[in-house]
Amino acid sequence: MNLMSERVEILGVKVDAVTMAQAVNFVEKLIAAKKNSIVATANAEMLLRATKDVELKNILSAAELVVPDGAGTVWAAHHLGYEMPERVAGFDLVQELMKIAPSKGYKFFLFGSAPEIADKAKVKAEELYPGIKIVGTRNGYFNVDDEPEIIAQIKNSQPDILLAALGVPKQEKWLAAHKNELNVPVSIGVGGTFDVMAGVVKRAPKWMQRAKLEWLFRAMLQPSRAGRLVALPKFVMKVVRSKKK
Ligand code: UDP
Repeated sequence: MNLMSERVEILGVKVDAVTMAQAVNFVEKLIAAKKNSIVATANAEMLLRATKDVELKNILSAAELVVPDGAGTVWAAHHLGYEMPERVAGFDLVQELMKIAPSKGYKFFLFGSAPEIADKAKVKAEELYPGIKIVGTRNGYFNVDDEPEIIAQIKNSQPDILLAALGVPKQEKWLAAHKNELNVPVSIGVGGTFDVMAGVVKRAPKWMQRAKLEWLFRAMLQPSRAGRLVALPKFVMKVVRSKKK
């Protein structure tokens, strides 16, 4: 289902050229449609990974909405000659959805991240968005034997939106594998969102986000992630080469 946006192909993955407002509007339509939809937030790292991971690529192709998360995705679209109005970061999309949730009655389930983090993110959400309904939380460290119980917990709490923070591509694969059992209108893979909400990880200051340097801030703050930076030049090179072809 693709109601209004252009889909822009970047390294074989179609990304929706939406603004934040359009993305929010679209998620609301998906909630109303109740069709177990998947929303992905595609940054450079995810798009690069999808060139080698067919399962991930297929999941992204089948996703109802793929938003341009990250300066790299917006840059790539522009480089390839497409319109891409703005960056729609997963973290920001979650905040926008939570903002309207109390008046719309949308219920959330927070699944993923280290023990206690999803609970802290819940407390923070209740503080920031009074009246919001967070109907359950579950940390993201589990083995296969735990899965039936996790699925039952999510299903029985009947959220409208399931946020899965297990990292890429685990969250996308998990959501795709279980979407029919879960029977949740909209599931979104949200990476490190709960860590930021819980205050464990900081978001880059606004000026750095505007300068398109959030990736650099993250690498500085979590040196363990610095290795992941090589994905950026690789992504740029692949996009440039794909244009030449
Ligand atoms: N995580 C998890 N289960 C796992 C592996 C990771 O719940 O088996 C969590 C981790 O604690 C963190 C999130 O997944 O909260 C991944 O965050 P990251 O910023 O690395 O996300 P990405 O950049 O992969 O979207």
